[in-house]
Amino acid sequence: MCGIVGYIGNQKASPILINGLLRLEYRGYDSAGISTIEKNGLSIMKDKGRVKNLYNLEGIDNLTGTIGIAHTRWATHGKPSQENSHPHMDNSKTFSVVHNGIIENYHELRNFLTEKGYTFYSQTDTEVIPNLVHYYYNKDEKNDDLKFLRAVKNACSDLKGSYAIEIICKNHPNCMIVTRKDSPLVIGKGENENYISSDIPAILSFTKNFYLLDDFEFAILTTNSVDFYNKNLEHIQKETKSIEWNAASAEKDGYEDFMLKEIYEQPTAIRETIGAKFNDSSKCEFDELNFTKEYLSSLNKIYFIACGTAMHAGLVGKNIMEKLCKIPTEVDVASEFRYRDPLVDNKTLCIFISQSGETADTIAALKLCKEKGAKTLAVSNVIGSSITREADYSIYTHAGPEIAVASTKAYTSQVVLVAILAIYFAQILELDNKQINDLKKDIIELPKKIEETLKISENVKGFSKKIYQEKDVFFLGRGVDEAVAKEGSLKLKEISYIHSESYPAGELKHGPIALIENGITVVSIITEKHLVEKMISNIQEVITRGAKTLVITNQNVDENMFDMTIKIPETNSFISPILSIIPLQLLSYYISKEKGLDVDKPRNLAKSVTVE
Ligand code: GLU
Repeated sequence: MCGIVGYIGNQKASPILINGLLRLEYRGYDSAGISTIEKNGLSIMKDKGRVKNLYNLEGIDNLTGTIGIAHTRWATHGKPSQENSHPHMDNSKTFSVVHNGIIENYHELRNFLTEKGYTFYSQTDTEVIPNLVHYYYNKDEKNDDLKFLRAVKNACSDLKGSYAIEIICKNHPNCMIVTRKDSPLVIGKGENENYISSDIPAILSFTKNFYLLDDFEFAILTTNSVDFYNKNLEHIQKETKSIEWNAASAEKDGYEDFMLKEIYEQPTAIRETIGAKFNDSSKCEFDELNFTKEYLSSLNKIYFIACGTAMHAGLVGKNIMEKLCKIPTEVDVASEFRYRDPLVDNKTLCIFISQSGETADTIAALKLCKEKGAKTLAVSNVIGSSITREADYSIYTHAGPEIAVASTKAYTSQVVLVAILAIYFAQILELDNKQINDLKKDIIELPKKIEETLKISENVKGFSKKIYQEKDVFFLGRGVDEAVAKEGSLKLKEISYIHSESYPAGELKHGPIALIENGITVVSIITEKHLVEKMISNIQEVITRGAKTLVITNQNVDENMFDMTIKIPETNSFISPILSIIPLQLLSYYISKEKGLDVDKPRNLAKSVTVE
């Protein structure tokens, strides 16, 4: 997954590179390193562990180079160690490379290069890249301006897998080459300086103008120029895109952690995502979409395909699409879907949800659906991200940058956007007007109700103190609340490392109830009116077996039954997950804090999963 940064200009590169890495650390924190071009050639400084370790490296302050590349790693091949840290050099120390992704045929390439006399010093897949570039560079007899680019291009032609690569060369001290395939990379255009990053927020404080590179394209950056080439090395033109996010939104703003800040940003994120798509009296409009009644009526199925939390947003979407739009809807995990030989054709609409828009499995699933003739629609938070460039249609959440690894505001924004999409479909299909208008009204009231929920939910802080040392927690729900139970359980696992299970409450007695014993914590969500009694019976069953219970509800229940009840505001059950997840986000947050863990950067995880 990893984060990469690059700088070329007139300023000292190293502080800019480290600053960018600190902002990209959510993408991986196994090791960090930078490489700059100094007066006496290439320099590399790297170490295992967090980016801040770079400050302690001897000589880091003496670097004066104004061109450099940098990396924060999420190890895929080779353990987190100094020698496996990026950047990697070729044997002759002419090229320095950072890489995000996986080179699937690195064994084969390593054998090939070893036969040619190259030696490998790390266990990474990445180390083949600088050596392969060196191999082609030396073979090339022409000595023109494009020699460096040709070597990079020839090396990339041999690579299988995914990559975003930055490469510098001591023989070409005034330029840097970048390229990508299935891994993210953006180019920031400044005044007499240019930047590279894995994502936009990391370099937002330097520039708001970005170039987006497509798969198999190359860019040569100098202080004053960025030149683009396609896979045949033909010169191509690109326009910059400007981004409205402000740099402050990528800072902590006085909050202790990004996650807490992002939880509290949910009223704004939802308000911005609703935007001007509709008001009380108007029809719901998406400028980006042009679906017709004929097309929507021809659909056999809608598929939501995503990973992790985004997949849970899809589960909520299924409930809305089926009940409001009357279209059969399935939800699938992207990494399973793509290998399932799924039944998808031109009568299937496939909707892909990815906050970053760079989730490797989701992108691969999207490509598969296109091949099978389905229309594809991307739901993302990042304009111009890979998924939005691949899909037939794209719609955007406006949650602003989400930095904490555990997703909060992106999830609730995805749910509201999918609900608005369902309204748009239902209108085109001329379905039940009352149901549509009721949902619209409730969506408009959501930001206020989220503010209210945030206040009430603070009460879970006390409960977190009671349960933070537990080993197992259960989450139960029925109907749409089961999707929330899944998301609540995932949040807890991710940031508190407590084992948790989520179950449809009615399934409990078919197995998992065997695990309920004295003192175990069971968290239940009850927002579906017609399921209240059924839920209460299931909770009673665990109380009988000694469970501690926390109930999140907007229904009338006998609060005396439970150890703690959080009453959230009432709303349409289609969108109740946006409110009921908030106490669960805060519960996980406070448990993680109580345990003294790094909430924003949980172990083994990274934010956008750009490897398969
Ligand atoms: N595959 C490379 C490694 O393990 C890069 C991983 C990444 O994208 O962080 O070093």
